[in-house]
Amino acid sequence: MVEHLKKSIRDVPDFPKKGILFKDITTLCKDPEMFQRMVDLLGHRYVGKKIDLVVGIEARGFVVGAALAYKIGAGVVLVRKPGKLPHKTHKASYTLEYGRDSLEIHQDAIKKGQNIVIADDLLATGGTAGAVVELVKKMGGNIVECAFIIELDELKGRKKLAPHPVFSLMKF
Ligand code: AMP
Repeated sequence: MVEHLKKSIRDVPDFPKKGILFKDITTLCKDPEMFQRMVDLLGHRYVGKKIDLVVGIEARGFVVGAALAYKIGAGVVLVRKPGKLPHKTHKASYTLEYGRDSLEIHQDAIKKGQNIVIADDLLATGGTAGAVVELVKKMGGNIVECAFIIELDELKGRKKLAPHPVFSLMKF
């Protein structure tokens, strides 16, 4: 099952810059069977786990997060790049290959003790998801798991998110 999914990911060399092999999920998402399979496989993991909210990370994490939230009967929360959310926000910064970036979440998005799954398309170094973990913890959310379609194993992003559990549908 996962092998088919793996084959539906397109590799784009040297995007967005030289030396990066970009794992493009748009080829998975536009295939109805593959998209449904991806959501079903992820959703299956959390059915019955009393997840209150799925936190999706801009922008591909919105696609994964919203579909997963619908599947398991949870709400969906958006984590966005700075200046995009209209109400009061909390902000967390993280390190990129060059320099730093930040992400924001609405201050009233999560209530203390709510069960949370953080969702994105891909785990690389873990900097992005790590910033979201920081935000969710600050707000008192209970991080049940961080869920990804793809994990780039050798970048060891999972270590950065420890001790929080990490699940990925496929590893490269
Ligand atoms: P990181 O913070 O290093 O874990 O990077 C994860 C974020 O960057 C995710 O939101 C991904 O969408 C994006 N990303 C990083 N590396 C890649 C890659 N090789 N292919 C596709 N997306 C990537």
